[in-house]
Amino acid sequence: MRDKDLYAQILGIKSPWQVSGVELALSEGEVTVHVEQEEGVQHCCPTCGEVSPGYDSRKRKWRHLDTCQYKTILLADVPRVKCKEHGVVTVSVPWAEPGSGFTAMFEALVIDWLKEASTAAVSRLMGLSWNAIDGIMQRAVKRGLSRREELSMTQIG
Ligand SMILES: [Zn+2]
Repeated sequence: MRDKDLYAQILGIKSPWQVSGVELALSEGEVTVHVEQEEGVQHCCPTCGEVSPGYDSRKRKWRHLDTCQYKTILLADVPRVKCKEHGVVTVSVPWAEPGSGFTAMFEALVIDWLKEASTAAVSRLMGLSWNAIDGIMQRAVKRGLSRREELSMTQIG
Protein backbone atom coordinates (compact mmCIF):
# COMPACT_ATOMS: atom_id res chain seq x y z
CA MET A 1 0.00 0.00 0.00
CA ARG A 2 1.32 3.44 -0.88
CA ASP A 3 1.77 6.02 1.89
CA LYS A 4 -0.96 8.24 0.41
CA ASP A 5 -3.50 5.41 0.43
CA LEU A 6 -2.44 4.35 3.92
CA TYR A 7 -2.98 7.85 5.32
CA ALA A 8 -6.25 8.34 3.42
CA GLN A 9 -7.53 5.15 5.06
CA ILE A 10 -6.30 5.75 8.60
CA LEU A 11 -7.45 9.37 8.53
CA GLY A 12 -10.79 8.48 6.95
CA ILE A 13 -10.23 10.99 4.13
CA LYS A 14 -12.92 10.43 1.52
CA SER A 15 -14.11 12.07 -1.67
CA PRO A 16 -14.20 15.03 -2.39
CA TRP A 17 -11.01 15.22 -0.30
CA GLN A 18 -7.90 13.19 -1.06
CA VAL A 19 -4.40 12.76 0.32
CA SER A 20 -2.02 14.32 -2.20
CA GLY A 21 1.24 13.62 -0.43
CA VAL A 22 2.95 12.51 2.76
CA GLU A 23 6.21 14.03 3.97
CA LEU A 24 8.40 12.70 6.72
CA ALA A 25 10.83 15.12 8.37
CA LEU A 26 12.98 12.78 10.45
CA SER A 27 15.06 15.50 12.11
CA GLU A 28 11.96 17.41 13.25
CA GLY A 29 10.16 14.18 14.17
CA GLU A 30 7.17 15.23 12.08
CA VAL A 31 4.90 13.70 9.47
CA THR A 32 2.99 16.14 7.25
CA VAL A 33 -0.04 14.83 5.38
CA HIS A 34 -1.14 17.03 2.49
CA VAL A 35 -4.84 16.90 1.78
CA GLU A 36 -6.55 18.50 -1.21
CA GLN A 37 -9.97 18.69 -2.79
CA GLU A 38 -10.71 16.94 -6.05
CA GLU A 39 -11.16 19.17 -9.09
CA GLY A 40 -14.55 20.64 -9.92
CA VAL A 41 -16.13 20.23 -6.50
CA GLN A 42 -19.08 22.51 -5.75
CA HIS A 43 -18.77 24.30 -2.44
CA CYS A 44 -21.52 25.02 0.01
CA CYS A 45 -21.86 27.74 2.61
CA PRO A 46 -21.25 26.04 6.00
CA THR A 47 -24.07 28.04 7.59
CA CYS A 48 -26.99 27.63 5.16
CA GLY A 49 -25.73 24.78 2.93
CA GLU A 50 -26.40 26.83 -0.22
CA VAL A 51 -24.07 26.05 -3.16
CA SER A 52 -21.97 29.21 -3.53
CA PRO A 53 -19.29 30.46 -5.90
CA GLY A 54 -15.67 29.97 -4.84
CA TYR A 55 -13.86 33.02 -3.46
CA ASP A 56 -10.32 31.92 -2.59
CA SER A 57 -8.63 29.44 -0.29
CA ARG A 58 -6.57 29.54 2.86
CA LYS A 59 -3.78 27.21 3.92
CA ARG A 60 -4.75 25.60 7.22
CA LYS A 61 -3.07 23.04 9.43
CA TRP A 62 -4.29 20.71 12.12
CA ARG A 63 -2.44 18.58 14.62
CA HIS A 64 -3.55 14.97 14.36
CA LEU A 65 -2.81 11.88 16.47
CA ASP A 66 0.87 10.97 16.35
CA THR A 67 2.12 8.42 13.82
CA CYS A 68 4.22 6.20 16.10
CA GLN A 69 6.60 8.68 17.75
CA TYR A 70 6.09 11.36 15.07
CA LYS A 71 3.98 14.44 15.52
CA THR A 72 1.47 14.35 12.66
CA ILE A 73 0.17 17.44 10.89
CA LEU A 74 -2.62 17.70 8.32
CA LEU A 75 -2.18 20.47 5.78
CA ALA A 76 -4.85 21.62 3.32
CA ASP A 77 -5.95 24.56 1.23
CA VAL A 78 -9.45 25.14 2.50
CA PRO A 79 -11.73 26.96 0.05
CA ARG A 80 -13.73 30.01 1.00
CA VAL A 81 -17.04 30.70 -0.72
CA LYS A 82 -19.03 33.87 -1.19
CA CYS A 83 -22.52 33.12 0.07
CA LYS A 84 -25.27 35.55 -0.97
CA GLU A 85 -26.52 35.69 2.59
CA HIS A 86 -23.44 35.02 4.78
CA GLY A 87 -20.64 36.67 2.79
CA VAL A 88 -17.16 35.16 2.49
CA VAL A 89 -16.98 32.04 4.65
CA THR A 90 -14.62 29.06 4.96
CA VAL A 91 -16.16 25.72 3.94
CA SER A 92 -16.21 23.08 6.64
CA VAL A 93 -13.84 20.11 6.60
CA PRO A 94 -14.94 16.65 7.74
CA TRP A 95 -11.95 16.06 10.06
CA ALA A 96 -12.11 19.15 12.28
CA GLU A 97 -14.40 21.74 13.78
CA PRO A 98 -14.31 25.29 12.44
CA GLY A 99 -11.66 27.38 14.19
CA SER A 100 -9.81 24.43 15.70
CA GLY A 101 -6.15 23.72 14.99
CA PHE A 102 -6.66 20.05 15.92
CA THR A 103 -8.45 17.21 14.19
CA ALA A 104 -11.60 15.82 15.82
CA MET A 105 -9.71 12.59 16.62
CA PHE A 106 -6.93 14.51 18.36
CA GLU A 107 -9.51 16.49 20.36
CA ALA A 108 -11.23 13.22 21.36
CA LEU A 109 -7.91 11.91 22.72
CA VAL A 110 -7.40 15.09 24.75
CA ILE A 111 -10.96 14.82 26.13
CA ASP A 112 -10.26 11.20 27.16
CA TRP A 113 -7.13 12.33 29.01
CA LEU A 114 -9.03 15.17 30.70
CA LYS A 115 -11.32 12.57 32.27
CA GLU A 116 -8.22 11.10 33.97
CA ALA A 117 -6.05 14.12 34.73
CA SER A 118 -6.00 17.89 35.23
CA THR A 119 -5.73 20.41 32.40
CA ALA A 120 -2.15 21.19 33.55
CA ALA A 121 -1.18 17.48 33.48
CA VAL A 122 -2.72 16.92 30.01
CA SER A 123 -1.02 20.06 28.73
CA ARG A 124 2.39 18.71 29.89
CA LEU A 125 1.67 15.24 28.47
CA MET A 126 0.58 16.50 25.02
CA GLY A 127 3.20 19.26 24.85
CA LEU A 128 0.49 21.89 24.35
CA SER A 129 -0.29 25.09 26.20
CA TRP A 130 -2.86 25.20 28.99
CA ASN A 131 -4.96 27.50 26.75
CA ALA A 132 -4.89 25.00 23.85
CA ILE A 133 -6.13 22.20 26.13
CA ASP A 134 -8.72 24.51 27.67
CA GLY A 135 -9.92 25.50 24.16
CA ILE A 136 -10.45 21.82 23.28
CA MET A 137 -12.41 21.37 26.52
CA GLN A 138 -14.55 24.47 25.88
CA ARG A 139 -15.45 23.23 22.37
CA ALA A 140 -16.44 19.83 23.81
CA VAL A 141 -18.65 21.52 26.42
CA LYS A 142 -20.29 23.64 23.70
CA ARG A 143 -20.92 20.51 21.58
CA GLY A 144 -22.47 18.79 24.59
CA LEU A 145 -24.74 21.74 25.33
CA SER A 146 -25.92 22.07 21.71
CA ARG A 147 -26.75 18.36 21.68
CA ARG A 148 -28.75 18.84 24.87
CA GLU A 149 -30.73 21.70 23.26
CA GLU A 150 -31.44 19.52 20.23
CA LEU A 151 -32.70 16.77 22.53
CA SER A 152 -35.05 19.02 24.47
CA MET A 153 -36.43 20.41 21.20
CA THR A 154 -37.46 16.93 20.06
CA GLN A 155 -39.01 16.27 23.44
CA ILE A 156 -41.13 19.42 23.13
CA GLY A 157 -42.19 18.33 19.61
ZN1 LIG B 1 -24.91 30.93 3.61
